[in-house]
Amino acid sequence: MTHSDILIIGGGIAGGSLAAKIAPHRSTTLLEAEANFGTHSTGRSAALWEPFYGLDIIRKLCWASEAELITRDVLSPRGILYLQEADRPRDTFEDILKQPGAQHLDVAAAQAMIPILRADAFVEAAYGPKAQDIDVDKLFQSFLKEARAAGAMLVTNARVTAIRHEAHWIVDTPAGTFTANTIVNAAGAWADQVATLAGITPLGIQPLRRSMARIPAPGGHDISRWPMVVSAAEDWYAKPDAGKLLVSPADEDPVAPMDAWPDDMVLAEGIARYEAFVSEPVTRVEHSWAGLRSFPPDRTPAIGFGGEGFFWCAGQGGYGIETSCALSDLGAALLQGEAPSLDPAIVAALSPARFA
Ligand SMILES: Cc1cc2nc3c(=O)[nH]c(=O)nc-3n(C[C@H](O)[C@H](O)[C@H](O)COP(=O)(O)OP(=O)(O)OC[C@H]3O[C@@H](n4cnc5c(N)ncnc54)[C@H](O)[C@@H]3O)c2cc1C
Repeated sequence: MTHSDILIIGGGIAGGSLAAKIAPHRSTTLLEAEANFGTHSTGRSAALWEPFYGLDIIRKLCWASEAELITRDVLSPRGILYLQEADRPRDTFEDILKQPGAQHLDVAAAQAMIPILRADAFVEAAYGPKAQDIDVDKLFQSFLKEARAAGAMLVTNARVTAIRHEAHWIVDTPAGTFTANTIVNAAGAWADQVATLAGITPLGIQPLRRSMARIPAPGGHDISRWPMVVSAAEDWYAKPDAGKLLVSPADEDPVAPMDAWPDDMVLAEGIARYEAFVSEPVTRVEHSWAGLRSFPPDRTPAIGFGGEGFFWCAGQGGYGIETSCALSDLGAALLQGEAPSLDPAIVAALSPARFA
């Protein structure tokens, strides 16, 4: 049996980033159910850092992660273009325009950025220059490398099947039995299941499926400098990715924790909504996939102790990559009993104690 101060369950960006930050200070083991780290949500994201999107607390966590993301050299310029249709509520659009640096564009100016946009599909646009691409693989691998270098034990094919507490936690996996003073629940979509195994009350974390299609560059255009483009109604988005275009229906269908796959009809309907905005029809989907964005009931991550020696690092929803630096700093501080660098109001808002 291997004993550690900290045993992290779940080898996605949440568990991997926390392992990198805590391993220099406490003996650490990271357990991943799959054969490879990052197999689930972390390996399936849209890879965007957009600090003006989502709840206020998510925006603050994005800003708090920015400096470290720059230091790790994983950000590159992208920009984001929101398209407003006629006869749609303008609340979200107005909110976007309040962003510092946001530009209000007419249809022709939006078409200058993305020439395939149809002039009859939308009436105005908002451009957010701050949005950046994240090199997720580079970021994630840097976390794992740092965890290893600090002496952490990283174990794959180690799905946790049983957890009990005697003098310390005892955790069974096909890769062996592990013991620890503190366990960290970083199991993504499976976080409530892992809590239940440990006899801890689940938080109601709900996985929501999001699908993606990769299509050839429309009309053979060089799309490398196109911004990401989103309907202001948020019912589809498209983003350049290595010479291809990713198109998502922006679906949020509740599902059980699973190795997610896209529903063909959901994908087809989302592609049809995208096609209504562009002059180039989609003739071929080269690849499609789905991943799970897992949210607590208030759509705010749960970071902190939820019982004696039981620590939550879950519920990052659709923002777990762009907020990973701030959330792992917070987790490492709380695990060491140190004062976090984040505003105490943010720390309280993230605490699982809010569900007690
Ligand atoms: C389509 C899509 C687009 C997205 N776009 C963005 C974006 O642009 N920007 C952004 O910041 N975020 C984005 N996200 C969200 C982001 O991907 C997630 O918030 C983040 O990956 C969550 O990381 P995680 O480590 O919590 O989960 P995961 O990566 O799913 O990791 C959890 C791990 O726990 C393991 N596990 C589960 N149960 C056990 C067990 N019993 N024992 C051992 N291991 C276990 C799983 O195998 C899994 O590897 C997107 C997500 C999706 C699906």
